[in-house]
Amino acid sequence: MMPKRPSGNARLTSHSAGTSLATHLDLFGPLDVNWQPGTPDAALRDLTTRSGLRGRGGGWFPTGRKMDALANGGSDKPPCLVANAMESEPASHSDAWLLSANPHLVFDGMQIAAQSIGARRATLAIHEGHSAESVVREALADRNADAVPIDLAILKSHYVSSEESALAQGVGGDLAIPVYGLRPHEYGVDGNPTMVNNAETLAHLALIARWGADWFREVGTPDAPGTALLSAGGAFVQPGVYEAPLGEASTNVVEIAGGLVDVPIAFLIGGYGGHWVSAEEFLSTSWDPEDLRVRGLNLGAGVLWALPAENCGLIGTARIATYMAGESAGQCGPCRFGLSELADRLTQLALRRDVADNLQAVEALLPLVTRRGGCAHPDGVARLIGSAIDVFAEEIAEHAAGRCMSADDPEVTFPIPEVRERPAPLPDRSWRPITTGSR
Ligand code: SF4
Repeated sequence: MMPKRPSGNARLTSHSAGTSLATHLDLFGPLDVNWQPGTPDAALRDLTTRSGLRGRGGGWFPTGRKMDALANGGSDKPPCLVANAMESEPASHSDAWLLSANPHLVFDGMQIAAQSIGARRATLAIHEGHSAESVVREALADRNADAVPIDLAILKSHYVSSEESALAQGVGGDLAIPVYGLRPHEYGVDGNPTMVNNAETLAHLALIARWGADWFREVGTPDAPGTALLSAGGAFVQPGVYEAPLGEASTNVVEIAGGLVDVPIAFLIGGYGGHWVSAEEFLSTSWDPEDLRVRGLNLGAGVLWALPAENCGLIGTARIATYMAGESAGQCGPCRFGLSELADRLTQLALRRDVADNLQAVEALLPLVTRRGGCAHPDGVARLIGSAIDVFAEEIAEHAAGRCMSADDPEVTFPIPEVRERPAPLPDRSWRPITTGSR
């Protein structure tokens, strides 16, 4: 079968090849390259830069610049590549969808990224109990000609374990918690310079290598080309994972994601460390990291949650804040002392107890936890709570009067896992490596 050049907005979702490498190559076409492991490939970095690809994990950093930093870093240690498919964000399902539908796109992207920086080691990181684990294992077993062998690292599931420095430490067999002051491109897996790329970013890279930089730029914006996966939840007719072109009007994105069952009160963008935004404001934006950034918002990893009218956003935010406080690594002051207090105060406010006092306490605590941690975890919690105070101002006034505007069904059905124990030091490596290809 001749592979068809993807056109339109369905790229990662144009096919679902599953675990079979032969089916994958039939549907997406071969990777026509001749790689030399360990030799940084400037042409691949140039292709990536010209495509304008940005990381889909939440930072939206230009991928070509990341590659250049690794390739030109001047370290005498061999670089490593880590593909981040941890999906620590409970409201995001895009990595799980991608690995289930098209795992070989991610593996192909890993080959290209590894070659672009001259890595001899490439590791896919997922968390324990990942829904795609069996698919990943089956697909990896079908790859025996990779120039760069692919390891599978299965790490403890924890919200902060997908932070880049935490992930690099975890793949190296240490605690997967953020490391203050160490950036993976300088000191990553086993002390080697490490490039961490999100799984979706790598899948786009696999298509760019096949169809070129100009093809990639056929959709999206000049500054943020291409499409991105989004995880739609809440008041959507069909919650799920969808693909949308960057720059698309948010009203259209809502339709791509199946439309709404009701006019929501607000949308949560970017996940549990993201922002609440009123429905009116959200529907005037575009699905574009830059448009959202100038409005003080963040596309993050593509989470879009529509809050149904019968739900209480304050109760929902309090539940998320409680979860996030418990998911910190518990090693810096803002996380050890500030987040729990913030979550408790917000919970009291949401339960309509001493609303004025608790609101005052929350507002006093927010600046005390912001930009004071070893990583951005407390910043995300503060951002979410601060946006809730703005967007749900009317609800707060109702709570102060002893009422709730959403009293018919005040619970919110966010996917919030049980708060897990903080990671404890492990006696030995917490993951079991499986290796493909030849070493
Ligand atoms: S800010 Fe919190 S999550 Fe981040 S490193 Fe410090 S304790 Fe860990």
